[in-house]
Amino acid sequence: MPAPLNAVVTGSTSGIGLGIAAAFAENGMNVMLNGFGDADEIEATRAGLEKKHDVAVRYNGADMTKPEEIRALMSEAETAFGQVDVLVNNAGIQHVSKIEEFPEEKFDAIIAINLVSAFHTTKAAMAGMKQRGFGRIINVASAHGLVASPFKSAYVAAKHGIVGMTKTVALEGAEFGVTANAICPGYVKTPLVEKQIPDTARERGISEEDVIKNVMLGPQPTKRFVEVAEVGALACFLCTDGAASITGAALQIDGGWVAH
Ligand code: NAD
Repeated sequence: MPAPLNAVVTGSTSGIGLGIAAAFAENGMNVMLNGFGDADEIEATRAGLEKKHDVAVRYNGADMTKPEEIRALMSEAETAFGQVDVLVNNAGIQHVSKIEEFPEEKFDAIIAINLVSAFHTTKAAMAGMKQRGFGRIINVASAHGLVASPFKSAYVAAKHGIVGMTKTVALEGAEFGVTANAICPGYVKTPLVEKQIPDTARERGISEEDVIKNVMLGPQPTKRFVEVAEVGALACFLCTDGAASITGAALQIDGGWVAH
């Protein structure tokens, strides 16, 4: 395992991606942040992580719907750090709607951000990882990469798709020390989930309280949201030599959701 490891985490200005980036920095890894948000807040996060953990933290605001910007992000990370050892494809959006009313542009955007962007980043990172004999590709899928829920046609399609792509990348990297795994979280209380509470209440004709209690936490036997830090800890473990034989896996971190 090279040291220190250099990581790119897409969609890391918020929620799970930020949690993974922070956990990486805490473990001595250099990190390239990516995502949207207020420029001053992003800079404060970047500088804060860098200072607190004495690692290099950079930011590139590439839009994951734009292949040329994704290529520029990967190339900037390679130039700044010398190499990219760890790639976390995490950027994602959600839209909750019946399929007959699902806006076409939303469907396309979800597929582009949640699935196709991971193709472009992986394509850019794979050759170097194989050549150096070490790489960790971590795709943040979802429990919705394994099972479906109504009103999430685009999201469920994208997440099942990324689980499939993970398996292919794992097979291609297997003899070169490159692992690829999908992390499949249940509900984590991030802005992405908070935004879908009112939409789900509307689609199902129930209260927002019922959405949290019955739709989100109902299927999670632990009856609590998964913590961002728990996902960060799993991502950190996947980067270690101890995780070298874990590849092509869809790792549930969902409080037992898909177990029943
Ligand atoms: P979030 O909204 O907190 O964060 C999403 C991140 O993606 C942000 O940094 C945002 O700026 C970035 N992003 C969005 N569109 C982008 C674009 N076009 N280009 C670049 N960056 C973009 O959401 P989250 O809950 O932390 O979600 C992160 C990932 O985890 C997603 O892939 C999501 O599907 C997955 N996930 C979330 C949950 C959950 O319950 N929160 C569960 C399972 C999987």
